[in-house]
Amino acid sequence: PASEKVVKGIDSLAVSNLRLYCDPSCKKLKSAIANRYGVKDSQVFVSNGSDESLKFIFMAYGQKGVVYSDITYGFYSVFANLYSLKSTVLPLKEDFTLDVNGYLNQNKLIVIANPNAPTGIELDKEKIELILQTNKDGIVVIDEAYVDFGGNSCVDLVDKYDNLIVVQTFSKSRSLAGGRLGFAIANEELIKDLEKIKYSTNPYNVNTLTQIAGVMAIKDDEYYLNNANKIIKTREWTEKELTKMGFLVLDSKANFIFAKSDKISGNDLYLKLKEKGVLIRHFGMERIKDFNRITIGSIEQMEVLVNKVKEILGELK
Ligand SMILES: *Cc1c(COP(=O)(O)O)cnc(C)c1O
Repeated sequence: PASEKVVKGIDSLAVSNLRLYCDPSCKKLKSAIANRYGVKDSQVFVSNGSDESLKFIFMAYGQKGVVYSDITYGFYSVFANLYSLKSTVLPLKEDFTLDVNGYLNQNKLIVIANPNAPTGIELDKEKIELILQTNKDGIVVIDEAYVDFGGNSCVDLVDKYDNLIVVQTFSKSRSLAGGRLGFAIANEELIKDLEKIKYSTNPYNVNTLTQIAGVMAIKDDEYYLNNANKIIKTREWTEKELTKMGFLVLDSKANFIFAKSDKISGNDLYLKLKEKGVLIRHFGMERIKDFNRITIGSIEQMEVLVNKVKEILGELK
């Protein structure tokens, strides 16, 4: 759940104040995020979920075309199509790691989810720096939705590279998906561009209650760090159990794992687990159709998953 500080922050005064418009500059929230990440307030942009930051980035910088990988977060191609931007879709390598060579000297809008979804695989920071150095005339977006589950953030590179935008969200590690809060950290000139688009489309994009929830969540960093650590431990346990049953589990730095059985197809496993009341995610795309994405829940939930998978494998002849 969201932290107690968030729950207490949304009090009756806050609700009663909903008669007023929210602060369009999101001053307190920006300041809290800037402090937490060691940047200036002017280097932070806040949005209605990180999807909105991404949407504004595509609107602002996509004209020369957009580059992203064949297996990644689905919204990149949606935004590219919505704004009629030319997409260069680069295939991941056979092992689902990213082949940096394709990303060099593109000088377009490059978007990389790191850790990636739905694979959970992290790309080294040195490789990201190489991409930044060889795309001086293009914007490079690192979408760090899952970074708090064991990844390395690129926030500390925003002063070194004026073409870098790091996007993060409160939806995953900070348990605020329904509050809709995301943010971007970058050089302040890029933040000004995003502000210009926001003020031209939706000045009150982050509502009063969500601004409060965001400030309170930042104040309870320790709570979320502890939750993320629990999820990492549970992820490692689940990986071990599935591997024992013959699964190939990709090396995940996210709050999910991407796994393939040597005994049952991805779709059959998904359907059989659904019959038993456990929902995992199957993607129809050819390259990943043998895999399933399994979200890490509580240890009790993961024990249920492991037991149901055992049952299903036992029922195969
Ligand atoms: C969940 C997710 C988002 C969007 O998150 P919101 O902040 O809820 O809009 C963006 N990118 C990736 C890779 C995600 O997994």
